[in-house]
Amino acid sequence: MTEPAPDATGPGQVIEVGHPLIADKLTRLRDHRTTTGEFRTLINDIGTLLTPAATSHLPSVQTEVTTPLTTTEGSVLEGGLPVLVSILRAGNGLLDGVLRVMHDADVGFIGMYRDEATLTPHEYVVRLPVLAGRQVLVTDPMLATGHSAVAALDLVAAQGPAGVVFMCLVAAPEGIAELHAHHPDVRIVTAAIDSHLNDVGYIVPGLGDAGDRLYGTG
Ligand code: URA
Repeated sequence: MTEPAPDATGPGQVIEVGHPLIADKLTRLRDHRTTTGEFRTLINDIGTLLTPAATSHLPSVQTEVTTPLTTTEGSVLEGGLPVLVSILRAGNGLLDGVLRVMHDADVGFIGMYRDEATLTPHEYVVRLPVLAGRQVLVTDPMLATGHSAVAALDLVAAQGPAGVVFMCLVAAPEGIAELHAHHPDVRIVTAAIDSHLNDVGYIVPGLGDAGDRLYGTG
């Protein structure tokens, strides 16, 4: 078995993936002129591009593989693909990008909306595969107050997963602190850490309402 490298990708870390291609796509996502169709493509692409950082800790096992020419050493994921859990509805934008490179992954959904007056999360649907003992990758583009993320991660943690990664596009420092206050072992993988939340809980500079921009409901 190949152990993952003990580096900055340990549990409880925040990994801000700095890559010119991701930065270019995120900048176009932030632009208020970006159309719904472009927004969808860009968020899918970033989901795909964040996947290596979100899975770099997964253990693999050595195996032999026979090519048309010879037999050689290879490796496969020890526990198979992680289970993907999308926080509805905006999580589906990243989810689709992750699925491009994890076609066989099991997928669960947690529907959360936030009360815009109190900023508290309300759950309206939960449909999860078995998570006990498995690696889980949760997708939600905006880690703002962290309240929805914590509520969703509470549901995931209740099943006893082997490890959990939270993938987002943009994280606010307030959301990172809230998530890690409740779930210190969860690894956060994000394309950017922004400045702060405004007084109605939006990330600044952010990109606005990710769900509205993804589904054209703004
Ligand atoms: N949800 C969003 O979609 N955008 C924010 O800035 C905060 C929460």
